[in-house]
Amino acid sequence: MADTNGKPEYVVGVDLGGTKILAGIFDRQLECLGRIKISTKSERGPDAVIERIARCVREAVDECDLELKRVRGIGVGAPGAVDPEEGKVIFAPNLGWENLSLKKALQKELDLPVFVENDCNICTLGVHEKELKSKPRSLVGIFIGTGIGAGLILDGRLYSGFNRTAGEIGHMVLEVGGPKCGCGNRGCFDAFASRTAIFRKIQTAVKEGQKTVLTTMLGDDLADLRSSDLRKAIRRGDQFVERIVEEAAEYTGVAVANVINLFNPEMVVLGGGVIDQLESEMMAIIAETARDYALPGTAKGIEIVASHLGDDAGITGGAVLARRETK
Ligand SMILES: [Zn+2]
Repeated sequence: MADTNGKPEYVVGVDLGGTKILAGIFDRQLECLGRIKISTKSERGPDAVIERIARCVREAVDECDLELKRVRGIGVGAPGAVDPEEGKVIFAPNLGWENLSLKKALQKELDLPVFVENDCNICTLGVHEKELKSKPRSLVGIFIGTGIGAGLILDGRLYSGFNRTAGEIGHMVLEVGGPKCGCGNRGCFDAFASRTAIFRKIQTAVKEGQKTVLTTMLGDDLADLRSSDLRKAIRRGDQFVERIVEEAAEYTGVAVANVINLFNPEMVVLGGGVIDQLESEMMAIIAETARDYALPGTAKGIEIVASHLGDDAGITGGAVLARRETK
């Protein structure tokens, strides 16, 4: 079925991550009709991953009893630096990619228009248009998962910077000489509050003899630790886990204060797996710390909230991008 312009009415959003690919089919009202998740298998190389993205899209379309010809476009969020005009992934360490023409390759596989953006930018687009109904003129979205990234909407438009790398908030240094970060630097926000940093802190303390209910739940090596386990431990009264999560929330609050000082956005939205699982444990501390550290008067009226799109933020943003670009 086509819309009044004679164009197919569905769009596809794809969230390409280091470990999983998620594809969702969306209608004109941005309602998700169905989604499919498969593993990325980046170790098999870019060609194999591109083939898997195409397969994921086809399966999602099939899941909704549709055909590819009823899809007008595909929006993909990729981790790392992306050139949206060329549809090129410039640098994606999680995937081991450099200068890869993702748009061209996927268009060839699926014979549909493809648009590519950085994953945090796309999540911010999704939150802005679907969850916030495009209301805030300026918005910073901060996503805390394995790593930490941000997307910036300034004066109603996505801002990606001179080299398309704006929003790398995870590598904002919060403590000179602080703990080592995956990027090679020290004291980055990521090294205090990412899932990787929180888990490492817990595992190191446990090795040094720290007692926690987590070992009763998961065994001494904590190999299968997940963010939801931290919530369970805190609700069972584990003060050690509570303190570690509070600390991560405080550093996040300081980062939000820096964002407020720098951009003075109407709204700061937090998302990603860590926030999804620990919203009630972290958000109040984040907001309070941010207001404490922001320059007096600057945080007045600024909303600091959690997104509730969860795993759907990326695919929703992909759908927003595809819809916008095929109008
Ligand atoms: Zn770093």
